Amino acid sequence: MEQKANVAEIKAAIRNIPNFPSPGVQFKDITPVLGNSRLFASTIDLLTEGFQPGSIDTIVGIDARGFIFAAAAAFKLKAAFVPVRKKGKLPFKTYTYEYNLEYGSAIMEIHIDSLAKGSQVLIHDDLLATGGTAAAAAELVKMQGGNVTGFAFLVGLDFLNGKDKLIPHSKDILTLVNY
Ligand code: AMP
Repeated sequence: MEQKANVAEIKAAIRNIPNFPSPGVQFKDITPVLGNSRLFASTIDLLTEGFQPGSIDTIVGIDARGFIFAAAAAFKLKAAFVPVRKKGKLPFKTYTYEYNLEYGSAIMEIHIDSLAKGSQVLIHDDLLATGGTAAAAAELVKMQGGNVTGFAFLVGLDFLNGKDKLIPHSKDILTLVNY
């Protein structure tokens, strides 16, 4: 069997794209990790380390790159997958949660019947920046009576202190690659 990739190898594959999608943003392009079967599989293994298959009911993935990691992790942990999407994308009735961005605000949604009360839920996204988006996902999980067991991200931008917004929901916060 191929040897698992470590965090340093995964980090080396992440590309920094300056000024994308707008001036001043250092965009972390994770597609080279996805495009390498060994790095992708190792990333999912590392993001799910410590969780036994069957211990988590549902993994919530955040629109859109979070879907990739959440779906693969859900398959591995034999959990269900539920999307949290930007407003207007989900076809059925939704709960909505509005939160503040640096300029303006954003609205995220979840289907009202997507989680059973008391279910154990993990929230996955590709990257943790200020934490507003993942905290919104946690609020949407709680609206349905779900328990936020933890958060996992491929990338953490530590200088933005996003964990501060997530700790009130769960102290179990994994960021694999940190800047
Ligand atoms: P935040 O709510 O500030 O934690 O932002 C997190 C969301 O924005 C995630 O869904 C990320 O995919 C995206 N995002 C924010 N900053 C970046 C960045 N520098 N590179 C790539 N994606 C980012």
